[in-house]
Amino acid sequence: MKKLSNLRNLGIMAHVDAGKTTTTERILYYTGMIHKMGEVHHGNTTMDSDPQEEKRGITISSAAITTFWQHQGQKYQFNLIDTPGHVDFTVEVERSLRVLDGAVMLFCAASGVEPQSETVWRQADRYGVPRLAFVNKMDRKGANFLRVVAEMKQRLKTNAVPLQLPVGAEDDFRGVIDLLNMNFIVWNDDDVGQTFQRLPVPEEWQAEALHWREHLLEQVAEYDPVLLSKYVENAESITVADLMRAIRQAALQMHITPVLGGSAYKNKGVQPLLDAVIDYLPSPQDKSEVVGINPETEQEEVRQTTVNAPFSGLVFKVLVDKFVGKMALVRVYSGVLNRGDFVNNMRTGQKVRASRLRQILSDKYEGIDQASAGDICAVVGLKDARTGDTLTAQGQPIVLEAMQFPEPVIGYAI
Ligand code: GDP
Repeated sequence: MKKLSNLRNLGIMAHVDAGKTTTTERILYYTGMIHKMGEVHHGNTTMDSDPQEEKRGITISSAAITTFWQHQGQKYQFNLIDTPGHVDFTVEVERSLRVLDGAVMLFCAASGVEPQSETVWRQADRYGVPRLAFVNKMDRKGANFLRVVAEMKQRLKTNAVPLQLPVGAEDDFRGVIDLLNMNFIVWNDDDVGQTFQRLPVPEEWQAEALHWREHLLEQVAEYDPVLLSKYVENAESITVADLMRAIRQAALQMHITPVLGGSAYKNKGVQPLLDAVIDYLPSPQDKSEVVGINPETEQEEVRQTTVNAPFSGLVFKVLVDKFVGKMALVRVYSGVLNRGDFVNNMRTGQKVRASRLRQILSDKYEGIDQASAGDICAVVGLKDARTGDTLTAQGQPIVLEAMQFPEPVIGYAI
């Protein structure tokens, strides 16, 4: 059985053009899911739609791509859930926010916080989604990391706290100072940024790095009593583990938004970002239960996020694939869904069969035998499934928190 704590249902949110496609592509590259890093432009990458994707059998809204990452000797699974960045797709953004546990918000280091970033940010606030921020495009003309951090505080009203300090900007962007370990991460150019070295913090950056480390300590110490007492009594004794624990607490409770920086395009910054997702964003286990309504009693009912609870799941997207036909993307909230199980669709009242289960990898579907609490999978065969449907184990009725979506506005030409 899969370890829940090693799972991350992750969204990448951004203003259009901030680099979501590029960053996603780099993530799939570093995690070994794609083997060729292409020139990125719209319509020619894994998350976007183009005729090539039809060939692969995967459509644009491959709304949930599964990929794996090794971190400190353990294997972690990411389900990358697509959150459209276009304003017109606000409803779709909300739909995906409902099923993810944490998100990375990308900003362009030159354009900073744009109106659309604010819209997406507020949506994530509404769903209580803990976030990390990644200030991308540090190599771009006009890039300014600290200005974006200040804008996040001012315009998004979030306590943006750098965990890294980029060294240099534009053509001179060299790497980032890791404020926890107090070393300087520099990527090797020769292998498309797959490896990096940790060097001593350059002399001329030491004062600024210490200033931002102090800021980090101050912002998180109050959420961790051990760190706080060490901070007050003997700051020298603070370990990286103390700091990581405190950052995680503060980030999960959304007291802070940890900020990292880099340039996806120049292959700098993505691996530490993946590590930070593991270290500071929640796994499904961090939400121990889901609340729904039992339609028979009309009372609230709780399902624990464990494999022992009765199965419940939510359809958050329905895809039509050229090869396999209709597939429902389901987030399993409790229990286990096995291949071939009969489940109830609470909206239609019908008993339906989950004839096949799949994981969506970047270029293929992989059949799986079961999906357990916290996981996301594609289900083939669910008759009449629609977005928003709750699926349950037979005899265990529950309707998961209804998702309210505004009706589309219909305009009349006069
Ligand atoms: P999306 O609209 O958020 O998906 O953004 P894309 O990933 O398509 O990127 C938009 C444009 O910015 C493309 O031309 C990318 O090549 C470029 N881009 C993405 N990341 C970076 C970066 O780190 N630095 C620079 N200079 N350009 C980038």
